[in-house]
Amino acid sequence: MEYVTSRATAKDDRNAWAESGVEDLGGGLYRIPLPLPNDGLTAVNVYAITGERGVDLVDAGMALDQARDRLTQALGQLGYGLPDIRNFFITHIHQDHYTLAVQLRSTLRGQIALGEEERTNMVAIRDVAQGRHEPGFIEMLPALGAAELARQVRAILAPGLANPAPKLEWDDPDRWLADGAVIDLPSRSLRAIHTPGHTRGHVVFHDEAGGLLFAGDHVLPHITPSIGFQPAITRQALSQYLGSLRLMLTLPDSRLLPAHGPVSDSTHARVNELLAHHETRLAQTLEAASAGPVTAFAAAAALPWTRRKRKFTDLDPMNQLLAVGETAAHLEVLVVRGQLIRVTSAEGIDLYSLPERS
Ligand SMILES: [Zn+2]
Repeated sequence: MEYVTSRATAKDDRNAWAESGVEDLGGGLYRIPLPLPNDGLTAVNVYAITGERGVDLVDAGMALDQARDRLTQALGQLGYGLPDIRNFFITHIHQDHYTLAVQLRSTLRGQIALGEEERTNMVAIRDVAQGRHEPGFIEMLPALGAAELARQVRAILAPGLANPAPKLEWDDPDRWLADGAVIDLPSRSLRAIHTPGHTRGHVVFHDEAGGLLFAGDHVLPHITPSIGFQPAITRQALSQYLGSLRLMLTLPDSRLLPAHGPVSDSTHARVNELLAHHETRLAQTLEAASAGPVTAFAAAAALPWTRRKRKFTDLDPMNQLLAVGETAAHLEVLVVRGQLIRVTSAEGIDLYSLPERS
């Protein structure tokens, strides 16, 4: 059953935002959730900015028949078709945001724009697809003390790595967006702001006059975004992410239009919650490393996970991988802050401990 909701309807149920339909946000702007089957995120929001000359989309969804059909239906309700899409403004390179844009561009018009700092990830994705090396988030595991987990994850991913997604889904965008690039649309003006952390080239799109922030996965209402889960990893992912969160507080507050979850009134309110969450997590991680030296794997195993405080050993291997990466990111922030030191062993394993007090 397709319907156009008003803003008020979807408030009670935590997953209501993911139900198929079109949410009218006013001013010719619509939120269209597209399905992500077999994914805990459930759906990804595509935002349609409509006008007389066509439609501009912020994020595009995943290259799946269900997603393409849903987008076709939703645009149809608004009086448009897929050929009316003028631009795809993509917040980051993850497949649930980028790949449907590439698929649609191959047969229809539409220009794709992506943050220029994602070039490194694009190169790494192609290297992985062509078997030149493993994704960074697997390659890093032995150094984090998780060689056995790497073996488990390889076994799970082997079928996918042997049959990588069709090359067309990882074609370059038409335009690499620089930090601060201004996009003038007929109805509104967007500024691309580089917000590294979730990925190294993530951008948000700020409509200052309209009081809107298209936040991608940088600021999510219900969950904390994964940090640095990307093909080309960096030790500094969480330091960058915290900086990118503080950057949001220097902008005027605005409505939060996230890629996963419902629209809410204040970006700043959620940013402050996320900053507080990471400070709590940093304190817990420091505690876990205080009897050090510990690996990221050992520190992760000592921490509670998810809102339900699950034990690390109860997580499946893919979630253990995320947890170890997340812990390593927190340990690295503590190193930058001078609260821990990192020493790499002769075997190439990173060990964290308290600095010696003199
Ligand atoms: Zn993402």
